[in-house]
Amino acid sequence: MRCIELNSFVSGFSSFFLHAKLSSFHAFLRSKIATTFVESAQRAGYPYLDYNAGDQLGVSFLQANTLQGRRVTSGNAYLYPARKRPNLHILTSAWVTRVLINKANKEATGVVFVRDGKTQSVTARKEVILSAGAFESAKLLMLSGVGPADHLASFRIPVVQNLPVGELLYEHPGVFGPVFIVRQPIDNYVSLDENINFSNIVQYLKGRGVFTTNSVESLMYVKSPVAESPDPGLPDVEIMQAFSSIDFDTGTGTPRAFRLTNATYDGYFRPIMNLRSFQYLPMLMKPYTKGKLRLRSTNPFNHPLFQYRYFEDDRDIEALVYGMQEAIRVTSQEPFRRLGVELYRKQVPGCEQHPFGTHQYWRCHVMTLTATFHHQVATCKMGPPSDPEAVVDHELRVYGVRRLRVVDIGVVPFPPTAHTAAVAFVIGEKAADLVRDAARKEDYRVREKHSSLPVQSARWSPFEWPFK
Ligand SMILES: Cc1cc2nc3c(=O)[nH]c(=O)nc-3n(C[C@H](O)[C@H](O)[C@H](O)COP(=O)(O)OP(=O)(O)OC[C@H]3O[C@@H](n4cnc5c(N)ncnc54)[C@H](O)[C@@H]3O)c2cc1C
Repeated sequence: MRCIELNSFVSGFSSFFLHAKLSSFHAFLRSKIATTFVESAQRAGYPYLDYNAGDQLGVSFLQANTLQGRRVTSGNAYLYPARKRPNLHILTSAWVTRVLINKANKEATGVVFVRDGKTQSVTARKEVILSAGAFESAKLLMLSGVGPADHLASFRIPVVQNLPVGELLYEHPGVFGPVFIVRQPIDNYVSLDENINFSNIVQYLKGRGVFTTNSVESLMYVKSPVAESPDPGLPDVEIMQAFSSIDFDTGTGTPRAFRLTNATYDGYFRPIMNLRSFQYLPMLMKPYTKGKLRLRSTNPFNHPLFQYRYFEDDRDIEALVYGMQEAIRVTSQEPFRRLGVELYRKQVPGCEQHPFGTHQYWRCHVMTLTATFHHQVATCKMGPPSDPEAVVDHELRVYGVRRLRVVDIGVVPFPPTAHTAAVAFVIGEKAADLVRDAARKEDYRVREKHSSLPVQSARWSPFEWPFK
């Protein structure tokens, strides 16, 4: 499985121009920071490895779903080449508002959607596939009467099937920092403004240069002392090395995308705007905190409620602090010292009460510059019939409802030790086989849950179930 990361500067263009097969490459552009990081991490004891080929504890350059410096998406890799197939009809600007389910036999028969202000419906001859993502698939199920009976009752939604939709939600929380200043003149990557010029744009069109960066250039996987898994080779924290720090974008785009307050941006990032700086993005892959997804209302155009209290479990903060400290240890190695790299020591606004560099300070930094990488999973958890948390079975069929599958990242039962886009691609590929197979056999059996049995799925043992 290939892991991809932020392509914040080019993603808008890439989906427009690129029609490519799904490809995964080491990103082309490697700043001096990336090569120095990989060298320093090895000096600090982390082996160089291919993190998609078995062992993960170590350091590596980023692999990304990109081609010639542009992001490859599921849209341009899968959908665009298939768009003219006679058995495919793509309807854009259509918003699905509920799944039609025959209450008598609990069979999904189609969906209702709104387009150009008109409510319409489409019926399915074989199956309905919900693929609206971890938030929206769960919301659509609940609006259609499939969800926790008490929650649906509180909105007067007639219950078709009582299932724990949205009862579980995992996230990959992260943190912006630590940030470092580079005193030696290593390159021109001080600010976006200075880099927007004719030469860089021409380079980009040729698939080269600064704008082909994924921003993240290399990764290190570490295991913190609070990691739950006894497997010594399974990391719980990923440390992404970004080629610049957030102040690279002197406009409002990046701070707004990351929801940084003016006080944080002005107080922490603005002072280093004219300096060459870079930062790490530690991300917790195995959080202890669990959340929920709830309906806000019965209005299908309202977003659902994202009920995730970051760091409710204190160990999640400790794991990220460990990740930050490992990043600092690596960056204090000799190769970085040669570049004149220094830890940026300004206190994050709101953490001034803690002496810089103390454990309490880093905890405050984590809770103040908290990041999300939008890796939410498990709202429609896949699991065996005995799992009280399961919504879909191992073939992604919704328990108790015929001809209805959920095919998106929401089915992933536990937080993956990976970024989620590649996982979503794999789910889609697998589902294509399942759907084709069911159609060939005309097999649309429904599975029921027997959730009174004890849970048998092990949270950190993805390879045990459903194979054993
Ligand atoms: C800003 C951002 C950056 C990310 N960067 C990365 C990254 O670099 N690497 C990585 O691995 N992961 C990344 N992720 C996470 C990754 O994109 C998701 O995990 C992945 O897209 C999930 O795929 P999905 O098919 O389950 O859902 P989605 O990709 O969300 O697809 C769901 C689709 O359903 C549509 N939809 C939803 N509701 C309705 C409705 N009611 N009617 C009609 N259509 C509907 C949506 O418009 C969307 O097109 C990022 C996520 C975000 C938000």
